Amino acid sequence: MRITWTDEIIEELKHLFIERRFSKGAVARFFSEKLGIEVTRNAIVGKLNRLGIKREGVTQFCAERKPRLFQPKPSRQPFVPQVVVTEPRMVPFAELGDGECQYECTNADGVGDWLFCGNPCKSGSAFCRKHHGVVWVRARKARVGEAA
Ligand SMILES: [Zn+2]
Repeated sequence: MRITWTDEIIEELKHLFIERRFSKGAVARFFSEKLGIEVTRNAIVGKLNRLGIKREGVTQFCAERKPRLFQPKPSRQPFVPQVVVTEPRMVPFAELGDGECQYECTNADGVGDWLFCGNPCKSGSAFCRKHHGVVWVRARKARVGEAA
């Protein structure tokens, strides 16, 4: 027998769905198997929608829709903070190695050995990132000065 939404059936629907926490599919199965009323899950869904009945959480019989929790996608590359060395190491020229900044950082009073930055060079440069910028800007300003 096809379902006729009588008050009793609607009350049974509410009871099964809300109080006994049946899933919509389980309500449909209960109706057809226990009450002999043919009703599809879609009919249950439609009736619940029309009645404005909603239920939070996961149902008793099957987790039709698990609540989606926000999970950030794992980034493919781990975050590696870029180390920016700004303080010169003050290395004497004799100890200055390959790939170490050759920017002269001798103290203004001029006493003692000549000391150099010694930080790792920017690739393709004889200076570290900071001093490459300093030298490059100074050189450009010098060229601009010549042209004027
Ligand atoms: Zn440097």
